[in-house]
Amino acid sequence: MRCSRLNLEHLNVRGLTSNMEAVIGSKMPENIINKIRNYFEAEKQSGVREYLFAPKKKDEFLTFKEEVMSCQMCGLAKTRKNVVFGSGNIRARLVFVGEAPGFDEDIQGLPFVGKAGILLTRIIEAMGLKREDVYICNILKCRPPQNRNPLPDEIASCAGHLSRQIDHIKPQVICGLGKFASQVLLKTETPITKLRGNWQEYRGIRFMPTYHPAYLLRNPRDKNLVWQDMKKIMEIL
Ligand code: SF4
Repeated sequence: MRCSRLNLEHLNVRGLTSNMEAVIGSKMPENIINKIRNYFEAEKQSGVREYLFAPKKKDEFLTFKEEVMSCQMCGLAKTRKNVVFGSGNIRARLVFVGEAPGFDEDIQGLPFVGKAGILLTRIIEAMGLKREDVYICNILKCRPPQNRNPLPDEIASCAGHLSRQIDHIKPQVICGLGKFASQVLLKTETPITKLRGNWQEYRGIRFMPTYHPAYLLRNPRDKNLVWQDMKKIMEIL
């Protein structure tokens, strides 16, 4: 497998999944063409293709991150300590999206690192995953002062960053953490009590709204409801 993978890379066959004969040439024996075709089919099914071309994807993602880290597109650039871009696996099947960084996140430059973050980590681990397996980010990348609600112009300015993150990662499932993230991404005013637990769609990706971990810290009895939502996600992954 290693040998054929290197050969195929050497041949610059990126994106070659059909019309093999036309690209490689009609002189190649049929059995070799079939082997290559089977290789690409297996690669496509297993997700190895993502691995093969990961360096390019990683470079693009890092370049994009660098752009966002110096973003000045809204007033929060003046009050933030750090841009909280997001963290985790850029090829994650599951992305969690929250509202905005809080105090701890602003200091550390990482999403969900306070008490709510610890609870989110426990939820992820209960799903049989690690934080490094998923991707975690927020709608806003900079903390609103005193954790006030994000303003419409801040949401509008930052929306493109999240869209690009999702486009890069291409997850199977997005989990909206809390009322704000779920309502903004689904463009609805339906209460989170009605949204949660019901599959929705965000830009063609399955979207599960659930309660925010900070809400669960105040209302631990609702942890069971969130666990029901996570079980629905686990059925998909
Ligand atoms: S909140 Fe978003 S749009 Fe505003 S400065 Fe930060 S990264 Fe830029």
